[in-house]
Amino acid sequence: MKIVELLDRASETLISYEIIPPKRGGSVAQIMEIVASLMEFEPPFIDVTSHSAQVYYEEMPDGTWRRHVKRKRPGTLGLCAAIKGRFGVETVPHLLCRGFTREETEDALIELNYLGIHNVMALRGDDNGFNKPVLFNRSRNEYAIDLVHQIAEMNRGRYLEELIDAAPTDFCIGVAGYPEKHFEAPNLMWDILNLKRKVDAGAHYVTTQMFFDNRAFFHFVERCRDVGITVPIIPGLKILTSKKQLQTLPSRFHVEVPEALAAEVEAARDEQVPEIGIEWALRQCEELLNAQVPCIHFYIMQTAAHVKRVVGALRKMA
Ligand code: FAD
Repeated sequence: MKIVELLDRASETLISYEIIPPKRGGSVAQIMEIVASLMEFEPPFIDVTSHSAQVYYEEMPDGTWRRHVKRKRPGTLGLCAAIKGRFGVETVPHLLCRGFTREETEDALIELNYLGIHNVMALRGDDNGFNKPVLFNRSRNEYAIDLVHQIAEMNRGRYLEELIDAAPTDFCIGVAGYPEKHFEAPNLMWDILNLKRKVDAGAHYVTTQMFFDNRAFFHFVERCRDVGITVPIIPGLKILTSKKQLQTLPSRFHVEVPEALAAEVEAARDEQVPEIGIEWALRQCEELLNAQVPCIHFYIMQTAAHVKRVVGALRKMA
């Protein structure tokens, strides 16, 4: 079922999850265990992130440098198919512009279509030093909107090369939104107008970057509605579980940790931090539930234990 249909049919706020594929050469067992442990909450859908190739340089004995390219976390599509096959849960593979040609993207979409996966998240991805050469007759999507266009065209039966009687795909397309604005955008409204263009190009729903202050989310949703974005907007939440994340989350994801939360975490002993993060997330969830958001989307990084505590508590309250 498509994400927008799931949202449409739900009589209450849904709770979804996002997981990261294992590192190259790692075992899928651990991630399957995480997914299995979430089944008691009957997740409506699970997103699986995508990671483009990265460049690193190795110094050679003669003093020269050799350039290496590798994908640290391949396997998004396979993982989505495995989760859907084993648990019967809808999966949402993330697709990126950066690091992939349009031809590779089309092939990935054809594979997903064959696998019966009809939801995708269209993202630009970040620069990782890897710019695939634009070869003859090959091209890449620059921004997420270009990827949305490509998927929407396939939904109309238009593939990269003209094919007679090509069957249209039927993908439900999600895109990213940023309550605290994307770090490259000059201001929030500029970024929201970019989001509007992605929706106008064919995106069916929005999932947001994590935020720790609900006011940023509510303000963002209001501005989106002001400019005519009418599709569902799903808030993304991450539970803060360590002191280190006071630095790493803002620097990696360009989000603010509110002073009150930061002060509480700084004053606590290390082992107390997860409890503070869980309590904070619970308060965020209660407020979001009261505001009748369509879904709450939890970012799971290494373990589902903290998210499960929050979702378990929310269930008891319901
Ligand atoms: P875009 O919508 O293309 O926007 C990127 C920036 O470019 C914005 O500042 C926008 O305002 C600007 N812009 C857009 N169009 C133009 C234009 N024509 N001219 C000039 N500027 C323009 N990253 C991963 O690598 N893998 C993942 O799986 C992944 N999952 C994510 C899931 C969610 C819900 C979110 C919120 C983010 C995720 N990201 C992921 C991170 C994302 O790839 C980065 O934030 C990236 O920098 C921007 O992606 P985007 O799709 O929002 O890009």
